[in-house]
Amino acid sequence: MPAITPITQDVLTIPRALPKGPVNLVGLTRAQMRAALIAAGTPEKQAKMRLGQIWQWIYQKGVWDFNAMTNLGKAYRAVLAERFVIALPNVISRQISSDGTRKYLVRITGGHEVEVVYIPEEDRGTLCISSQVGCTLTCSFCHTGTQKLVRNLTAGEIIGQVILVRDDLGEWPDPGEGMGERPRLLSNIVLMGMGEPLYNFENVRDAMKIAMDPEGISLSRRRITLSTSGVVPGIARTAEEIGCMLAVSFHGTTDEVRSNLVPINRKWPIAALLDALRAYPKLSNSERITFEYVMLKGVNDSDEDAHRLVRLIRGIPAKINLIPFNAWPGAPYERPEWGRIKRFADIVYKAGYASPIRTPRGEDIMAACGQLKSATERARTTCR
Ligand code: SF4
Repeated sequence: MPAITPITQDVLTIPRALPKGPVNLVGLTRAQMRAALIAAGTPEKQAKMRLGQIWQWIYQKGVWDFNAMTNLGKAYRAVLAERFVIALPNVISRQISSDGTRKYLVRITGGHEVEVVYIPEEDRGTLCISSQVGCTLTCSFCHTGTQKLVRNLTAGEIIGQVILVRDDLGEWPDPGEGMGERPRLLSNIVLMGMGEPLYNFENVRDAMKIAMDPEGISLSRRRITLSTSGVVPGIARTAEEIGCMLAVSFHGTTDEVRSNLVPINRKWPIAALLDALRAYPKLSNSERITFEYVMLKGVNDSDEDAHRLVRLIRGIPAKINLIPFNAWPGAPYERPEWGRIKRFADIVYKAGYASPIRTPRGEDIMAACGQLKSATERARTTCR
């Protein structure tokens, strides 16, 4: 197994040919947008106010036409329309499962495609978003892992997934309607789609900061979960710079098994990963770490695995999400019998950990965990 080289976003985030012309406001941090407005001629004294007004139009009201931003002067709107765009990824397809799950295939700059999944439940609506086209890593149970990394998504392309689906759900307030007057359809975000979010840290951070901004989408940090396969250096940084909830793709209770399932384990084995989790700055009983555990028949589903798992995580406030394996074409694994999964869950539960078994959602549209993949392949080197 070749050494895993850390990916810098500079190489992979920026599309080969930067689009010429107006700057896209979607995905800019507040500081970046303020600087861009001033560079476009907004008087410094007004910049903060203008920023707040534009921010609310885009992220609170879902308005992307400068002309419709009626609390801005006509002349100023014309300047904005000349210098900026409000551009979102394009929805190429939208499938709705018999269980209500929605899967979107969206196209981003350069013609690349990623998948986004919306999972409605009684008390919440969760959006599973992607952070990379393909993935840096090659987890053997994951469909995305068979797709080489093409590039990192920009912050605009990450938050764009949230905006697109809010739009599709019709979740923007009506004119005159205050924030929070109706229950949210999109109430939770999980960074569990395509890609390893900690190998695209800055863009994921900026996008999630936008999602948490109280003047815009205003999602609580506790309703955002970032899932990592175990990029140890990025774990503490997640708490310090994003502050959202943390999940870890654990899946194996020995280094031998976990290295086969999650190859990054060869770089940061179980002991190093658990040390980082024990030191997680935001760790508490009210902010538990979620251990994702895909159930693979005859691989990691034994009683010994369950007992070893609870021994390994002792002392970490945690819950264990058990994910019955979701097959994909050519997958080398099978889902265990229900009885086996239930017995595993009971052992973990009796040891004092919540061990919910995730109900597969959207299987009929290949939207379940580990099933995402887009047709985009890394371009042949010849065309560079
Ligand atoms: S599980 Fe996550 S990190 Fe692993 S290959 Fe799939 S998308 Fe990448």
